[in-house]
Amino acid sequence: MQSGPHNDLLNADLLRQARQLDNEDPLASWREQFHIPTGSYYFTGNSLGLQPVGAEQMIVEELEDWRKFGVEGHFKSRRPWVNYHEQLTEGLALIAGAQPSEVVAMNTLTVNLHLLLISFFRPAGKRTQLMIEKGAFPSDRYAALSQLQLHGLDPAVDLIEIAPRPGEHTLRTEDIEARIAEAGDRLACCALSGVQYYTGQLFDMQRITTAAHAVGATCGFDLAHAAGNVPLQLHDWNVDFACWCGYKYLNGGPGCAAGAFVHARHHGDPELLRLAGWWGHNAERRFKMEPEFEPIAGAAGWQMSNAPVLNMTALLASLETFKAVGMDALREKSLALTGFLERGLAQVAEATGEHLEVLTPADPTQRGCQLSVIAHGHGRRLFDHMTSKGVVADWREPAVIRLAPVPLYNSFEDVAHFLRILEGGLRADS
Ligand SMILES: *Cc1c(COP(=O)(O)O)cnc(C)c1O
Repeated sequence: MQSGPHNDLLNADLLRQARQLDNEDPLASWREQFHIPTGSYYFTGNSLGLQPVGAEQMIVEELEDWRKFGVEGHFKSRRPWVNYHEQLTEGLALIAGAQPSEVVAMNTLTVNLHLLLISFFRPAGKRTQLMIEKGAFPSDRYAALSQLQLHGLDPAVDLIEIAPRPGEHTLRTEDIEARIAEAGDRLACCALSGVQYYTGQLFDMQRITTAAHAVGATCGFDLAHAAGNVPLQLHDWNVDFACWCGYKYLNGGPGCAAGAFVHARHHGDPELLRLAGWWGHNAERRFKMEPEFEPIAGAAGWQMSNAPVLNMTALLASLETFKAVGMDALREKSLALTGFLERGLAQVAEATGEHLEVLTPADPTQRGCQLSVIAHGHGRRLFDHMTSKGVVADWREPAVIRLAPVPLYNSFEDVAHFLRILEGGLRADS
């Protein structure tokens, strides 16, 4: 089917609205601080965030300092490598809603999840169960399975995978609370996502944490899709532990250093087991090469190795952006941008007579920027059409399109162009 006068009108109207919203957007100019891939409408900042313009210069500076100073760069470089991770602390604390001592940049996400589970999933007696959400990101599920095996437990018995009600896509908080209460003193640890990668659902981390603590379990979150996407208050919510990667909404570059959070109330606990390394040792005495491990009080005490400087530089550049913009302002734009996408999808569905189902909760307090959309009756052809027109989105079989309009660098006009291309694709594919 060809586009007719009706959809031309819709497209013109959406584009006009988008340009007006961009004009009124106080964050619009931040887009210029990122490299937008040429000719693309980029909606996969939930997978790999775009490159901050300042990153290249900072990486060049590290290479220069290494060239100039060799090993002395640990102390003499512009951003001394010996405490490089500390330079990311302020930014990460802001992202996580944490005290500086509660966060650290180290390792990569799945590694951090394992290290934190070692400390906070401590099955003992009848308290042996670990709870995750059904359909969790595979790496998290593999981590959970292998942690159970590490303790000699049978995942078939001790892994709880909490699922939505039949016919529903997302979890109800009251159902999570009820399942935690039901597990009771058999539950050792609850480790869910903050924002679910597939559905885009934002969980009520405070209520879930409270429920887990009420039965004596620990509670932590994988914030891969939450960090830099939604405001977090991990300290006030009393979350025990959390981890996240730096390369999705945080724009730190592929495979960059990840983040970890350990609540202050655990910092003085000598009983807390951890897998230790020299970088977690008392920082003043680290180079005394002492045989006994004395952990830094705080998340930094979970570090094993010295900081991967070149894997932290772009993240450092990016965190400066977050500090300057602030999570509240970002969230405000995000709500408007995703709301515009949501309304536009409904208009396109109406104009084309197609069924576009949004899996992500309609309640904005239960989601971040991502919408996961099923284009019923369509397949890969629709997605390939959109890709050929410059849309960069994520496709999951059977027909789920994950779209993340990122408030730091996506414009309302990006969304209008996406909707125009989607509409054309739906018509061409029917
Ligand atoms: C992206 C993502 C990962 C990726 O893990 P890495 O260790 O960074 O490769 C893991 N878990 C979740 C929930 C994710 O979204």
